[in-house]
Amino acid sequence: MAQVPKRQMAQIIYNVGGPVKYEEIDVQEPAADEVLVNIKFSGVCHTDLHAVNGDWPLPTKLPLVGGHEGAGVVVARGELVKDVEIGDHVGVKWINGSCLSCDFCQRSDEPLCSKALLSGYTVDGSFQQYCIAKAAHVARLHKDIPLDAVSPVLCAGITVYKGLKESGARPGQTVAIVGAGGGLGSLAQQYARAMGLKTIAIDTGDAKAAMCKELGSYAFVDFAKSKDVVKDVQAATPDGLGPHAVILVAVNEKPFQQAAEYVRPRGTVVCIGLPAGAYLRAPVFDSVIRMITIKGSYVGNRHDTSEALEFYRQGLIKAPYKVVGLSELQMVYDKMVAGDIAGRYVLDTSR
Ligand code: NAD
Ligand code: ZN
Repeated sequence: MAQVPKRQMAQIIYNVGGPVKYEEIDVQEPAADEVLVNIKFSGVCHTDLHAVNGDWPLPTKLPLVGGHEGAGVVVARGELVKDVEIGDHVGVKWINGSCLSCDFCQRSDEPLCSKALLSGYTVDGSFQQYCIAKAAHVARLHKDIPLDAVSPVLCAGITVYKGLKESGARPGQTVAIVGAGGGLGSLAQQYARAMGLKTIAIDTGDAKAAMCKELGSYAFVDFAKSKDVVKDVQAATPDGLGPHAVILVAVNEKPFQQAAEYVRPRGTVVCIGLPAGAYLRAPVFDSVIRMITIKGSYVGNRHDTSEALEFYRQGLIKAPYKVVGLSELQMVYDKMVAGDIAGRYVLDTSR
């Protein structure tokens, strides 16, 4: 059995606005219902940057270790934990724990639990070598799954898979993925394809356009070059009537105000991205007479998690990622601010 060290490296923020500091801190001990996970790799989600910047009307813990796409190995467990073994491969995801007894938890809507613990937000997350998580909520990973490649699935993958299910889109139909060049967007195209859906990608730049083609999108609308995004998205559908659903994973407000205009009559707009201070906007007249649905979708429950992981395990999901050291988190944030990341960055906690 691996020795658990007393000290470890972590990325910490002390104040809203950052910066993140790469420092040595204590390794925590798991409580009775918790496991201690030796995080090997952790994806960097735009949510982690929102947390640093204090973008949302929900305060973070401070000081804070961010991160919620942590893949690793269980090295210790509390005395009540019976179904997770030392040596198991697990994922630490956004929902770190929930009460398991409220109305929402009883209905498997754990993300809606008012006592849910959020990794890298209200509790310390996966930007450290040893991370605590509630045993009931860790994602179970088959040992044949590579821990670096699977880490982005633990938030981005689960979230877009859930969003696609929430959209109600059926095989053969067309879905617009807005913010397609980023972490969630790249996985959304792969999950959509695996679910038998056709995708139109919306983002900007040649690198992201090329990536989206490779990920299976048959059309790309560059929001920075297009003179009329609404018209261009509709024109990209075979009958010109617009996509059956829209998955909004962009980090700006504007596309949240356009989607209702180009979605197909009876179509569904699924809001997932969480730009700071943003509002939805849709014309009442058109929304009514075109019978449009606009809804939010928030991560996924434990069952969505195992389904999303099973798609991955079957080899249906391949999205680009770059591995850098945990010490390089600030560089990743800088690129994220510049909109310069096609796909996902994954941190290797050993460097
Ligand atoms: P990312 O930075 O990797 O990708 C965002 C993409 O949006 C970028 O490629 C960017 O170019 C693109 N974009 C910016 N403006 C756009 C516009 N006007 N039109 C189209 N695309 C545009 O971010 P990510 O990690 O994929 O996260 C995306 C968002 O999803 C974040 O706000 C994050 O907090 C949120 N999120 C929500 C949930 C949830 O459960 N609802 C879960 C995870 C992440
Ligand atoms: Zn995330």
